[in-house]
Amino acid sequence: MTIGSIQPLSQWGLPLKSLFLCAGPCSAESHEQLRKTAAALAGCPLSFFRAGIWKPRTHPGSFEGAGVAALDWLVRIRDEFGFPIGAEVGTPQHVEAALAHRLDVMWIGARTTPDAFAVQAIADALRGVDVPVLVKNPVSQDLEAWIGAIERIQSAGIARVAAVHRGFATASDTRYRNPPLWRIPIELKRRAAQLPLICDPSHMCGRADLVFPTSQEALDLLYDGLMVEVHHCPAEAWSDAAQQLTPEQFRSMLGRLVIRKEAGLGARYASSMSSLRHAVDEIDADIVELLRRRMEVVRQMGQIKRENQVSTLQPSRWNEVLLSRTNAAGKKGLSAEFISQVYQIIHEEAIRLQEEPLFGQLNGGGNGPAGSVSPGDARREDTPPGKGRSC
Ligand code: PEP
Ligand code: MN
Repeated sequence: MTIGSIQPLSQWGLPLKSLFLCAGPCSAESHEQLRKTAAALAGCPLSFFRAGIWKPRTHPGSFEGAGVAALDWLVRIRDEFGFPIGAEVGTPQHVEAALAHRLDVMWIGARTTPDAFAVQAIADALRGVDVPVLVKNPVSQDLEAWIGAIERIQSAGIARVAAVHRGFATASDTRYRNPPLWRIPIELKRRAAQLPLICDPSHMCGRADLVFPTSQEALDLLYDGLMVEVHHCPAEAWSDAAQQLTPEQFRSMLGRLVIRKEAGLGARYASSMSSLRHAVDEIDADIVELLRRRMEVVRQMGQIKRENQVSTLQPSRWNEVLLSRTNAAGKKGLSAEFISQVYQIIHEEAIRLQEEPLFGQLNGGGNGPAGSVSPGDARREDTPPGKGRSC
């Protein structure tokens, strides 16, 4: 990631206690609704109060936000309660309206982030402006698109920038609305350590009862803050009713959250961690060696399959491997889903290795079977059917 200068949250000029904390309703429905919610949050250490003004809804005809009128309501909340205010922007017109109302924070939503034209247009509208911008992850598992959107905002000269992790749409049915897939933001953190990372457990969970444990999980992973949907009466919310917390639930969650530090103190902590890490290092070395040996056997099988014109994929054998390994793992107390994922990756790599000789040919190799496609046949798509084909 080409990171320009990023200002740490402590220099953003927004209230910051121990966490960068944002709360407020999914959508601004009326001034009264914002007032009731903000009043119930009075005294909470919010870095900003949120409310959706323009709502990117999946289906037309759903509540699409109150638009510019709601910006006036938000400004009145700032005036009355002293909270900085923030909203999502999806177009340059939104940015202009938000700037005209001196919004303290803007964020780019999950549906906008992967749209390079839209993000660039927003970045152009922000050029020369000094406002904090949060960039939510795209709905799909596309880390590069997330990073690209952050880079576009940074290239417009915005130094107060942060990433918001709100989970990803996945086909697998889990307890989450948008499963976290923590490995993706962890990789973002690895590649951009100075980029502040904020968790939005509300859109991740889709249900209020999961918001606390998911928030704690984010803090356990060293997130810098939380963006939580809070409504004075979630049951009556015009959007995302099931996932919004009441202000009381939000306060109780704040009281229970534990903020972790990266390193423990004391000799006992250091010595027990060091011996456990040593054990993990040794086990990992064994895992890598076992995988190397497994892949060596796989290559030999690939050779025999090729010599006997047998397909690389063996559906019934693969089914048997997957079932037996997940069953064995279940008996040992490991998650079947985890082992299933591990074996799907191992199997994918096994197929890649068995097919590798084909691609070696394209690179000028030449140890493929007789009658195989030669490098010159890369043009084969243009060859008329029935002519020049060896199959
Ligand atoms: C929101 O925060 O209001 C929102 C629409 O979230 P997301 O873009 O993450 O779906
Ligand atoms: Mn919402």
